[in-house]
Amino acid sequence: MTTERAAELAKLNDDVRACPLCDLCKTRTHAVPGDGPPGAEVMFIGEGPGYHEDQRGLPFVGPAGRLLDELLASIDLDRSKVYITNVVKCRPPNNRDPLPHEIEACAPYLERQLALIKPKVVVTLGRYSMARFFPGAAISKVHGQPKRIADTIYLPLYHPAAALHRSDLMATVKADMLKIPALLQEARTAPNDGADSPPPQEEAPVQLGLFDL
Ligand code: URA
Ligand code: SF4
Repeated sequence: MTTERAAELAKLNDDVRACPLCDLCKTRTHAVPGDGPPGAEVMFIGEGPGYHEDQRGLPFVGPAGRLLDELLASIDLDRSKVYITNVVKCRPPNNRDPLPHEIEACAPYLERQLALIKPKVVVTLGRYSMARFFPGAAISKVHGQPKRIADTIYLPLYHPAAALHRSDLMATVKADMLKIPALLQEARTAPNDGADSPPPQEEAPVQLGLFDL
């Protein structure tokens, strides 16, 4: 089963690396499918690759990644045990925000990752990944508040890059992160192995508060 999942994940990664489905394929150096073991219990979903990620083909390896590593260390969660990916798998030029049609074009890859890995806890980093599971929500209101859908717990967090730019958010991100171990424990008590529990299937319009990070 695990070998099968690993093979499917490798296929998915190949599909992403060769993907022509939106214009971001024209400007990418490397697509960044995601990183982590197929059996990861926790999945982190960021926004999109930045400069360093585009150079290396790996998620969260720049300054925001260093902060993510620190945050993971604060809850004794090894990076090698979690799966890390993004809403869009190719870098938007000059790190601009991903456009709605790019997010839509890329969404099937994220859905496949979720269906394959079946994480018990999904942590969204920033408003773009939050919008997928908490449509219409404002991150300033819902950050740190978990929502359970079927057997998966979704936890919205501010993006680590936001905390790097706004020091007032740093303590919030750190405190929200500390909630993960208990949520994982809770999710383990109702395992979602076996049955394919569908992720929320709303069409997830990207509704953003203007000044939300
Ligand atoms: N920011 C993101 O949203 N994703 C990355 O992979 C790196 C920085
Ligand atoms: Fe394909 Fe997603 Fe890259 Fe667009 S961002 S080219 S949809 S992998």
